[in-house]
Amino acid sequence: MTLKKILLIVIDGISDRPVGNTTPLESADTPNLDYFAGKGINGIMDTISPGIRPGSDTSHLALFGYNPFECYSGRGPIEAAGAGIELKHGDLAFRVNFGTVEGNGESVFEKKVIDRRAGRISDTDALVEAVSKIDLSRFGIEFTFRRGSGHRGAIVFRGKMISDRVSDTDPKETGKNVKKAKPLDDSDKARITAEAINYFMEEAHRLLDSHPVNIEREKKGLLKGNVLLLRGGGVVRKVQSFEEKFGLKLAFITGTTLIKGIGRFIGADIIEVEGATGNSRTNLRGKFSTAIRALDRYDVVLVHIKAADEFGHDGDFEGKKRFIERLDREIEILRELDFSEICMIITADHSTPVTVRDHTADPVPVTILHDGVRVDDVKKFSELKAYKGGLCRIRGRDLIHIALDLTNRAGKFGA
Ligand code: ZN
Ligand code: ZN
Repeated sequence: MTLKKILLIVIDGISDRPVGNTTPLESADTPNLDYFAGKGINGIMDTISPGIRPGSDTSHLALFGYNPFECYSGRGPIEAAGAGIELKHGDLAFRVNFGTVEGNGESVFEKKVIDRRAGRISDTDALVEAVSKIDLSRFGIEFTFRRGSGHRGAIVFRGKMISDRVSDTDPKETGKNVKKAKPLDDSDKARITAEAINYFMEEAHRLLDSHPVNIEREKKGLLKGNVLLLRGGGVVRKVQSFEEKFGLKLAFITGTTLIKGIGRFIGADIIEVEGATGNSRTNLRGKFSTAIRALDRYDVVLVHIKAADEFGHDGDFEGKKRFIERLDREIEILRELDFSEICMIITADHSTPVTVRDHTADPVPVTILHDGVRVDDVKKFSELKAYKGGLCRIRGRDLIHIALDLTNRAGKFGA
């Protein structure tokens, strides 16, 4: 048996609920996606479980064979992995925004948040460096703080007295006071973690407010990045890397920070593609051709395409349909793949119906192309047709196993 490669194309939020009797995907002119559906086996998939509304992060974990109910503990750890912080089991990770506070007094908690993005500050390197000097050793805690894109960042607290039973400091609205981290149970760990975070918040504000970068911004009439707003806290549950779990080298091609974070969390290499922005003008052709080349070096390659989800969140039926049609023109280059060597899967991570403007648990369409699949009668890539296919209805967590079996990489269970 020869070992074959797996190409997974995830079109974020492509599927919908019917509007009238059609959907953006169903009504779009998609000769290439339909060609692939016609050559493959089709079905529908509950990426997590029937009725469970997936986040893009939890659903991607499931698509790579992880149980998100066991290994997912919030956005914090995923963002921290995405920012390149080395995570240890038991660390406490938060997403961070640089924000702007105003008000009298010394304490940051007496001040009001006037902008949760500090005027979309982007030059944060010197500020991150200043804050990184804060000493939490009196609490027995260390931390790592990294910038992300723009006003974003991630922070990881580590130590014997760390608990995730503490609240966020981000009020999540402007005009509100910065929140104190509160212990959410009466353990010493939760109390000490909250005290450490509150001390960190005060120190960070003191250092940032008087920092030369911010003084300079103030002179130019820009908002100061003088507070760090922590949210999405979660304790890190370290998982086996994909390579340890399946013995396969995995690469992610995505312009979306959250999905890069999932990739790093499970030990994938992230391949950057110029112009892969994660929005509707993204360099689709570049992503697909990069994927074709990556299949020489990797066993499994993910191409994640974001924009259909954005149109779903915007409630934009026509925009979503037009993006799907552009995607269809660009995906034509994948027709040249040798499907006796490569197993290609086209699917989504969840539905983002334009009528709901958010993710729903409606199952997504799946097409699998490979020599030896039982080609069915489905001739169109559509959430309204896929259920007629031979794959019937599967779970996201089973998808990778189905692909491993088709590519002769599955171990035998029993004699
Ligand atoms: Zn998604
Ligand atoms: Zn979304």
